[in-house]
Amino acid sequence: MAAIVLKGAKVANALKDGLAARAAALAAEFGAPKLVIVGVGARPDDEAYARGAIKRCEVAGIACELRLFSPDIPDGEFISEFKKINGDSGVHGILVLSPLPEGIDQAAVKNAIDPAKDVDCMSPANIAKLFTGDATGHAPCTPSAVIETLRYYGIPLSGSRVTLVGRSLVVGKPLALLLLAQNATLTVCHTRTRDLAEECRRADILIAAAGKAGMIRGDFVKPGAAVVDVGINVGEGGALCGDVDYEAAAEAAGYITPVPGGVGAVTTAMLARNVIAACERINKNAAVGYDSRLPENRVVGRGILDAPM
Ligand code: NDP
Repeated sequence: MAAIVLKGAKVANALKDGLAARAAALAAEFGAPKLVIVGVGARPDDEAYARGAIKRCEVAGIACELRLFSPDIPDGEFISEFKKINGDSGVHGILVLSPLPEGIDQAAVKNAIDPAKDVDCMSPANIAKLFTGDATGHAPCTPSAVIETLRYYGIPLSGSRVTLVGRSLVVGKPLALLLLAQNATLTVCHTRTRDLAEECRRADILIAAAGKAGMIRGDFVKPGAAVVDVGINVGEGGALCGDVDYEAAAEAAGYITPVPGGVGAVTTAMLARNVIAACERINKNAAVGYDSRLPENRVVGRGILDAPM
């Protein structure tokens, strides 16, 4: 069986016009939505990701700025610079390239970021909203990209048996919450899982987010299953590859995402969507006197539930 290839570019393109229209409406009424990407001593692949994200966001009508700080910047100085960006009323979305270097207090950054501008879900407030299914937060971009890819290709999650390999804070755990919110019947696997192949073979939808090149073999895939590969690895010879042995898995699968060209291509579209949603909410909430940084305002109030995702 030759699997249908789930191309991320198609998913992202389908969202493009709608996002551009929302950004244009915001620009006309309040000024263009703005994203700032912040990095400290960012690695070349982080920088490449940031530039790809900026390209996607600019096409959607989002103003973007890349703020890369020296790896030697003292922690206090960085936090002070970060707070300036955070407090700038012209900035609606902030993406922090992580992990930050050891000298920077990650917890301080997570606690400092305004939840309303935290477009990749690093703040405790947004993580709590994800946990409780409160749609007024920002879900993280890569897990959202998985859900959006399946939705675009009409692969149903409700009631489906899903096996997810990986339980990191960045991908696996938030993705597990989003899958449960879509009523999937979920199994989460990790390095202590006793029989990974068997857990994978039971899945209607198999999602790999382990960061191990080619670890999902062809015989892990139930015939006709959908296989979503979140992994980005550098394989032999330096080429990018996923966690799935693509050629072998495509023989058995009904649907499969490629790497590159799969989930990664949708991640930046989710970032653009979150920045636009952030700008819409910030402006709408300003009209009703809501400030997400104030504890007394951390209740779902009138106007906030109405905000689009
Ligand atoms: P982490 O290394 O933080 O987590 C990996 C997870 O996979 C852990 O839960 C680990 O289990 C599990 N795991 C690792 N090896 C195995 C194994 N042999 N068998 C079963 N489980 C295993 O990685 P991330 O979650 O940050 O990233 C995962 C992948 O996704 C990476 O390749 C990363 O590059 C990619 N990625 C892609 C993005 C995109 O936009 N497409 C964005 C972000 C990440 P345990 O908990 O037991 O250690």
